[in-house]
Amino acid sequence: MSKSSSIRFSSDRDFYDDSFILNELGEYREQYFQAVSPPIFQTSNFVFKTVESLGKAFEDEYGAHLYSRGLNPTSDILRKKLAALDGAEDCLVFNSGSSAIFASVFGNVESGDHIVSVKYPYTWAQKMFENVLPRFNVTTTYIDGRNFENFENAIRENTRIIYLESPNSWNFAIQDLKAVAKLATEKGIITICDNSYCTPIYQKPIHLGIDMVLQSATKYIGGHSDVVGGVLTGKQAMMKNIFNRELLNMGNGCTPYNAWLLLRGLRTLKVRLAHIAQTTQKVIQYLNGHEKIEKVIFPFDPDFPQYELAKKQMTGACGLFTVVLKARSRQQVVDFCESLQHILMAVSWGGHESLAIPKCASIPSKDFDNNNPEHRMIRFYVGLEDAEYIIKDIEQALDKVKV
Ligand code: PLP
Repeated sequence: MSKSSSIRFSSDRDFYDDSFILNELGEYREQYFQAVSPPIFQTSNFVFKTVESLGKAFEDEYGAHLYSRGLNPTSDILRKKLAALDGAEDCLVFNSGSSAIFASVFGNVESGDHIVSVKYPYTWAQKMFENVLPRFNVTTTYIDGRNFENFENAIRENTRIIYLESPNSWNFAIQDLKAVAKLATEKGIITICDNSYCTPIYQKPIHLGIDMVLQSATKYIGGHSDVVGGVLTGKQAMMKNIFNRELLNMGNGCTPYNAWLLLRGLRTLKVRLAHIAQTTQKVIQYLNGHEKIEKVIFPFDPDFPQYELAKKQMTGACGLFTVVLKARSRQQVVDFCESLQHILMAVSWGGHESLAIPKCASIPSKDFDNNNPEHRMIRFYVGLEDAEYIIKDIEQALDKVKV
């Protein structure tokens, strides 16, 4: 297997089509007996024949296979494919999406810096902004990212990062990525976008000018609810800095086995998303206008307030959407969720199995307010089952809710 330094991140990556990336790019089959599926290089360390080559690896671990806390040939294949899918120069893979979030932000701030973040980012991004970064004198201002002016107004002299998540995974709030990237570039601010909802198949923030893009690979890339992982892409210099500091220090890179599982998931990403997107449309069609559903929230629904922007910057929307149930009490939301027989109640998304999760699970019973539609929200994830199977399950659970 060649050293990582010979695994080039091609500058003509924009010309690779997805089929080539998913099936061939980054694979060196002649180096492992022409096996179609690459081996899991389950090794902690790598051998050197000369002191000079060992010395070179110490000097630049980002260009060498030295020790698998850093680079490993199995994860290199994954990195190369993910970078190309995003249209990025380079990619790092982590042991979770949260690790990718932490490394991308922590690696780019210093004491005294300020961050502008969209309101309600993913829970552990928010916890980092509120519980970790203030200990290092880094502050965060949350804004409603649906309104571009809010970015202009929130930026300060010491703003270092604009943190985006588009769409958000509950209310699907979207930011105009191209406009925010332009503003940030003019001001010398780094932009980071959580692209877990769309994946690079349905949105390419780097093409819109965003500096760094991350995803929870646990979701659609893994695709089978059996692996936790994270992806970060961007300019090679940025990735190298994060590799040499955050990734090597925290030791939070993806293991070879998990990289292999993610590679396996990646092969079928596009077909899974296409199937899920089709099924989701059918499920939404059933729910829209149902007497017990107050509202369906989905970015590719023509009634979605940011529908035009969604269509402009996303080429697809897939399995996540939220409904507001016309319930008269918390108990009715509970009854609905607990009546589902095939759709599982669990966090996450992106696997083969459909899921539902009620907002009220994270609201203490005494604070539940039936007049607040958010409290009656249920987020659905449509998996790989047939639409009719999913609809039938929702239907029988809705029948149990007396409105
Ligand atoms: N970003 C979003 C939008 C998420 O929903 C999640 C996890 O649910 C993450 C990031 C974090 O990913 P992970 O769970 O792989 O750490």
